[in-house]
Amino acid sequence: MEKTAQCACGAFRAIVSAELLRVTICHCGACQRRSGVPWTCNAYYRKSDVRLEGHHKVYTRDGQEGRKLRHHFCPECGTTVCWTGEKFPDLYEIVVGAFADPGYPAPTASVFEESMHSWVILPPGIEHFPQGRTANTVPPTTMKG
Ligand SMILES: [Zn+2]
Ligand SMILES: [Zn+2]
Repeated sequence: MEKTAQCACGAFRAIVSAELLRVTICHCGACQRRSGVPWTCNAYYRKSDVRLEGHHKVYTRDGQEGRKLRHHFCPECGTTVCWTGEKFPDLYEIVVGAFADPGYPAPTASVFEESMHSWVILPPGIEHFPQGRTANTVPPTTMKG
């Protein structure tokens, strides 16, 4: 069954045709500035399971260790719907808010907690990481794996 993530105006969409791999909360400063909220919630999908529709632009920024991240956003309303990075080149991270689905699966990991706001309360049982996971510790396994 397909699910659609879309920008605020609906012109740019990411349509997913398979199960997500993982949902992660990120507290990094780049995500805070990108989204305007103190932490973000993002879902990983294989690129082969994602179809991008509609006009969009790409903003490239520096990530860790010289790797680049490419944000895909709607030039009309400015919403970033997804991005891809050189750390996990076969995956898209899609912002969970773009699905606007309160039944969407909960996050299972919390990364970049070194820049977490002090008042944030995380779901019980979540995995904690002071920074990002390292590239070789994030195989694209399913959430069940
Ligand atoms: Zn838009
Ligand atoms: Zn982040």
